[in-house]
Amino acid sequence: MNCPECEATITLSPDLLDGEIIQCPDCGVELEVLSTEPLALALAPAIEEDWGE
Ligand SMILES: [Zn+2]
Repeated sequence: MNCPECEATITLSPDLLDGEIIQCPDCGVELEVLSTEPLALALAPAIEEDWGE
């Protein structure tokens, strides 16, 4: 599997679960596992930090 952002090779653990968030070891982008069979990754939505008013 390659990172959709930087195309680095990502080694996935064999017990990967649907919906799991993994991080690219190269660029650090967060990737959501959409499906494990067949394998599909997508960029995880950016987490908005809530700093309040
Ligand atoms: Zn990457």
